[in-house]
Amino acid sequence: MSEWNAQQKPASAETREIHRRFAERFGLDLTHTDNAEYALAKQHCILPLENYTVRDAQGGVVFDTADYAFLRQDAAADTVHPSLWLNGKSNALAGVFEVVPDKIYQVRGLDIANLTVIRSKTGWIVLDATSFPEVAAASLELLEQALGEPVRDRIRAVIVSHSHGDHFGGVAGVVSEEQTGDPAEGKIPVIVPAGFDEETVKENVFAGHAMGWRARYQFGFGLTPGAQGKVSAGIGVPGGRGSSAYVRPTDFIEEDTTRIIDGLEVVFQLTPGTEAPAEMNNYFPEYRAFWAAENCSGTLHNLYPIRGAQLRDSAAWWRFTIEALERYGKQSDVVFQAHNWPHYNTPEQPHGVEDYLRNTAAIYKHIHDRTLLYASLGKTAKETAKLISIPEGLERNWYTRPYYGSPEINSRAVYTKYLGFWNANPNEINPLTEPEEAALFVEYAGSAERVLELAERDFAAGRYDKAAKAAGYVVYTDPQNLKARYLQADAFEQLGYQAESSVWRNAYLSGAKELREPEHNGSAIRSRNSIIVKLSPRLLLDYLGIVTDGEKLADADERIRIHIVDPAQPGDAPYHGRSVGTTAEFVLHVYHGTLLYYEGHTEEALPYLSVTERDLPLLAIPGETEFFDRADTNAPEILHRIRDAVTDIAAKSQFPMFTANTVTL
Ligand SMILES: [Zn+2]
Repeated sequence: MSEWNAQQKPASAETREIHRRFAERFGLDLTHTDNAEYALAKQHCILPLENYTVRDAQGGVVFDTADYAFLRQDAAADTVHPSLWLNGKSNALAGVFEVVPDKIYQVRGLDIANLTVIRSKTGWIVLDATSFPEVAAASLELLEQALGEPVRDRIRAVIVSHSHGDHFGGVAGVVSEEQTGDPAEGKIPVIVPAGFDEETVKENVFAGHAMGWRARYQFGFGLTPGAQGKVSAGIGVPGGRGSSAYVRPTDFIEEDTTRIIDGLEVVFQLTPGTEAPAEMNNYFPEYRAFWAAENCSGTLHNLYPIRGAQLRDSAAWWRFTIEALERYGKQSDVVFQAHNWPHYNTPEQPHGVEDYLRNTAAIYKHIHDRTLLYASLGKTAKETAKLISIPEGLERNWYTRPYYGSPEINSRAVYTKYLGFWNANPNEINPLTEPEEAALFVEYAGSAERVLELAERDFAAGRYDKAAKAAGYVVYTDPQNLKARYLQADAFEQLGYQAESSVWRNAYLSGAKELREPEHNGSAIRSRNSIIVKLSPRLLLDYLGIVTDGEKLADADERIRIHIVDPAQPGDAPYHGRSVGTTAEFVLHVYHGTLLYYEGHTEEALPYLSVTERDLPLLAIPGETEFFDRADTNAPEILHRIRDAVTDIAAKSQFPMFTANTVTL
């Protein structure tokens, strides 16, 4: 047990035993894995794609189905939880699939999310557009190939169900921004739920840099697809890497409503505060088909995605899903969504759709209620996570298994949403930081050697969580301690192999990789600039406040009137509710290191800044030099001070998750 090294390891006897016991309990044959969800995932494929590559304009690979060909074997690999193996196997089935004959089709298996089209009177409505324009464009081409009819030039509307990048990121592959607009003017509407733009910004910009980095643990960006690496994203095949483009929505759904879109009746059910802050379901009465957006995804979803997000509301989630069941359940023969595959009423399961909606709602409500019951009895969030269990009648539905979210993390999310992050122990009022706690632990244990001796003992006994925790304390105090790093990595690895949740697996295996190859910690984070340049003035001022190092302006108490003027050039159409000929006014108040602003405030006597909506964001982008050429101002001094205080987050940030962070502003 003294040989610790940076190699990947096979599954341990303890790990294999955990898989064997699960298979026995759930009736799985590990040499020939199959279940009800795999059967659903396979059916109605009208164009299978076994060797298909999505490429970008330069010929670079965006996604290759061959990456997940290892999942085509029948036997589950012993380094993958058998249930997750089946989920991965199902998600890796790429192709064009029929949902309702002649009416609804999906392209699946080329991205974490699906592209869905639904037939309207003269063409097609696109429901969600995957993560990347390249995938969306390829999907439309594949649909034409499979259906033998034009699709690309018959798009009548794009409906984006919610404010997450894997749903709106590919819109530019379906329509260009120039094509979008009012259908009465021959344009294609991009229809989104109320609040979409603001939520998109909050999720992708305000905390976007940290979130982008943390996402590597959730999705395993640094992992190689394979039985010892990435297997599934839980809600789809792990996506590739395409270009990013943001197409502005043109039509916001403000309340539950029914619209006729190109002759097709489309019912909108808003579901704010569920899987996304701005989200909506759709019902298509003519096709007896219910689109569950990402509210029902063929798995237990996240109340808290570990990439970081505001906690989701399990109460809203179950309530809107029950509302959907009541409104559309009996009128639907199929429920389909942006991830995974559809569920139907069948002769064997005549109420399959209603069951699917009810079981999905029930699992969120069960976790919600039981967590608060435990909390009421005095349990902490960590304790509720260990105690939470799912009743047998619910846990045996494969479509609510924890491939993405998990009962443990969801329970902590419920606790935290209601009670916050404090565990009601005064030790945690002003807690030690992670490195401080680690140093204390090692010091009190006597030495790093003593800690590692005990960690090795726990590792040998299959107590990988304890071994990882203790070895991690040594890593914090001494990142060069290879034994500690390799021991923690090996423990993480077995925990990853044991995990049914793709998120847990990806997090553990990413951690193992980072500990073994610390030089690979530092993958580039996507620039947020393509969204920043499209922020409304108010959101831009919010963002400017975040990225400005206030300490550099601590002595200032100055106000500038910001006059958002009409666009300078054709094509610079003003957005965000302003029409041509109107202006927007703000007063920006640099107030002791804080950027306050007053919306709609006009005070002629103040120094001014006149700038177009399109140019204002340049003030907040490091390295952009054109702001002062494009703006008109008589307050250049304070604006230069702000500009100089803008932090180059991308250049400065470091995320050494297993050692101390030494960055300073
Ligand atoms: Zn999604």
